[in-house]
This record gives sequence, C-alpha cells and structure tokens, in this order.
Amino acid sequence: MTHESHVTADDLAEIREGVARLCATFPMEYWRETDRERRYPTEFVRALTEAGYLSALIPEQYGGSGLGLRSAAAILEEVQRSGANGAACHAQMYTMGTVLRHGSAAQKQTYLPGIAAGTLRLQAFGVTEPTAGTDTTSIRTTAVREGDHYVVNGQKVWTSRAEHSDLMLLLARTTPRDQVAKRTEGMSVFIVDMREALGRGLTIRPIRTMINHATTEIFFDNLRVPASNLLGEEGRGFRYILDGMNAERILIAAECIGDAKWFIEKARNYARERSVFGRPIGQNQGVQFPIARAYMAMRAAELMVQDAAARYERGEPCGPEANMAKQLAAEASWQAGEMCLQTHGGYGFAEEYDVERKFRETRLYQIAPISTNLVLSYLAEHVLELPRSY
Ligand SMILES: Cc1cc2nc3c(=O)[nH]c(=O)nc-3n(C[C@H](O)[C@H](O)[C@H](O)COP(=O)(O)OP(=O)(O)OC[C@H]3O[C@@H](n4cnc5c(N)ncnc54)[C@H](O)[C@@H]3O)c2cc1C
Repeated sequence: MTHESHVTADDLAEIREGVARLCATFPMEYWRETDRERRYPTEFVRALTEAGYLSALIPEQYGGSGLGLRSAAAILEEVQRSGANGAACHAQMYTMGTVLRHGSAAQKQTYLPGIAAGTLRLQAFGVTEPTAGTDTTSIRTTAVREGDHYVVNGQKVWTSRAEHSDLMLLLARTTPRDQVAKRTEGMSVFIVDMREALGRGLTIRPIRTMINHATTEIFFDNLRVPASNLLGEEGRGFRYILDGMNAERILIAAECIGDAKWFIEKARNYARERSVFGRPIGQNQGVQFPIARAYMAMRAAELMVQDAAARYERGEPCGPEANMAKQLAAEASWQAGEMCLQTHGGYGFAEEYDVERKFRETRLYQIAPISTNLVLSYLAEHVLELPRSY
C-alpha cells in the first residue's frame, strides 16, 4: 500500500508551527506536575486530539486529515522539541495503521470515524508478555474460538495507556506453537473493546516506573471477544504487527530527534548565560565540544529518520532504515541528554530545569519499543547476512 502524501516543506513547517503553538499553552510546570504526580496528561492529549493532530494518518473519508508519515513524524518531533512528552498518546498514530491496513470495511467504519473525532481512543497495544519478552513468537496468551466468540486467557505486561484507552490491539495465539509450520504463524490480532471487557475477564494493574508513562500489566481470564473483532485473517497477526512496527520505529525516532533538539537548545542557552570564573561556561571548549558533537549526531540521525519516513510514504520496503533511524535517533537523544545534564552542572538535577525529567524520559527509547541489541541483530542478520544468532 502506498502512503505517499504530497506535503511540501512549507506544509511541514506549518504543521510544526501549529504544534509548537499548541504546546506553548502547556507550560513546563504542567509537565513537572504530571510527572511528579504520575498523572496522565489528559488535558494535553485532549488538546492534541481536538486540534486533529492525533488523527493525522486517518484518511479523510473517515474524518481524519489523510496525511502521511512525514507529517505524523513532524507532529511528534515538535511535541518532544517543545519539552512535552508525546508518549501519552503517540500509540494512536501507529496502532491505527494496523486497523487501516488490515481491518475490514465494516471495522474501519465502526472505529475510524470515532477515533478521528476523538470520541474513541485507541492507545493500547498489547504485545509484550512477561515470559516471552522480546521473543514475541513465544507469547502464551491464547484466543480459542467458541462459536461467534474467541475466549482469551493469559497476561500482557507493559501495556501502556490501557487505563486511558477505549480500545486495545491485542496479539494472541490462536494456534499452539507446536501445531504451526513456522513459529511466526498461528497468532492473531484482535480489537478489544476495553469498556466492555473491564471486570468481565479483563483486569488492569498499573506499573509505576521511573517516568510518567501510564503503563500497566493486563490479565485475561476467559475474556470473550466477538469473532467480528478479529483483524484480518486468523493466524496472520504476527505479520500485521510487524507491518506496523516500521511506522512505530520511525515515529519514535522522530520523537527522539525532538528530544535531542530540546536538550541541545537548552544546553546552548544555559552555556551562553551561566557565568563561572568570570566568563560564560560556553566559552570553554570543554563545554562547547560536547554540545557540537550532540548537534552533529542529531543532524545525522535526522537524515536517517527523514529517509526512512520518505521510503515508508512511497510504499517502499524500509525495515533497515526504520530500525537504523530508531537506533541512531535514540542514541542521539541520549547523547544530547547526557550532554545537557553535564552542561547544567548541579542544576541539571533540579526539577525546575526540566532536564532531569527529559533525561529519564528519553532513556526509554533504547529499550522500547525495541531494545538496541535487537536492532543490531536485525541488521546483522537481514542486511549483512550474518548467521542468525537466536
Ligand atoms: C515504559 C515502557 C512502555 C512499554 N510499552 C509497551 C506497550 O505499550 N506495548 C507492548 O507490547 N510493550 C511495551 N513495552 C515493552 C517493550 O517493548 C519491551 O520491554 C522491550 O521490547 C524489551 O522486552 P523485555 O523487557 O521483555 O526484555 P527482554 O526480552 O527480557 O530483554 C532483556 C535484555 O536482554 C537483551 N536481549 C534479549 N535477547 C537478546 C538476544 N537474543 N541478543 C542480544 N540481546 C538480547 C535485550 O536487548 C535487553 O537489553 C514497554 C516497555 C516499557 C519499559
């Protein structure tokens, strides 16, 4: 499927300006407070939704703006660049693509207009399990067909935003692993309506983490999901999830670029203003060079993100580029975060400078949605044709 859009550089600049204006109405104190209280930024998510940014990728026929991935990447990058945290809502952008590509006409009509209008939230994505970890084909959550329903049993972990979402995309085994020819077969994707499921076989337990991320673990105990909520064909779910992962990686990479830009600007400004030994600290090369290095790393990663997003929009294969973009951008944002903390000296630790919060937040992207080692082994095996290591 081609997702190519015809947005120009001017259109992208306009999108960025609009997002920046919206984000400016949420001062840094808002983010400090939500972080301190581990409170979901409901007001911010509502504002982004009402402005139409979270439905950027939904086609116009369903009430979205029908934009491509480059526009979505620009939106999320700008959110992060402003100092905000888009992790509260970014999943809607990439989970929605799975519904768009593999949902039936009836499913699209049922869900997409509501998501575009902001009356339905599709923020939860249940793939990771405690025992399977990164090895997704070893998941144990099962969905067994019984008449016009599937009965789901098992557990997911790190299902983020589940308490702030109406729908969840769920990956479950529909055929036991020892009964399929390839381990990637026999898994299926379901749209679970959590409003109906809560208390009827679905339990959500929040997990407190080092960042404000609204993540949870989820338990399924004979949860009945209508067979009409199966997405696409039974048994092909792993393929559908993989399809969506390139979009996810590119969008997360764009967020990392936004983080890196925020850290670099913050450090640059501080290095120009802070005076010690009778001169600005930024006059010392020992302070300048890490800022220049972080800037270089960010710019290089940004090119890879742009290349990956453009390939994705043209409908070309972009697995290697999406993975490299995610890794390079996550490393660039971490490098910039580390530099920014160091540039601020002791003040980097003070909540009111926001550096320590962003520092914690950007660290996540070395681990999720895929850890750095797994990106490297993907490149080693699939691009460099080295022997499979696991
Ligand atoms: C805050 C947060 C939010 C998340 N949100 C979601 C979500 O919404 N939905 C969802 O489904 N998941 C989510 N995740 C899960 C995330 O995708 C996983 O944590 C991640 O993929 C790693 O899986 P794991 O934690 O089980 O690590 P493991 O698979 O246990 O790996 C542990 C470490 O070992 C390394 N490792 C494992 N196998 C190999 C190998 N063969 N070669 C080299 N190194 C290896 C890994 O790189 C990693 O460093 C989230 C995680 C966090 C922390």
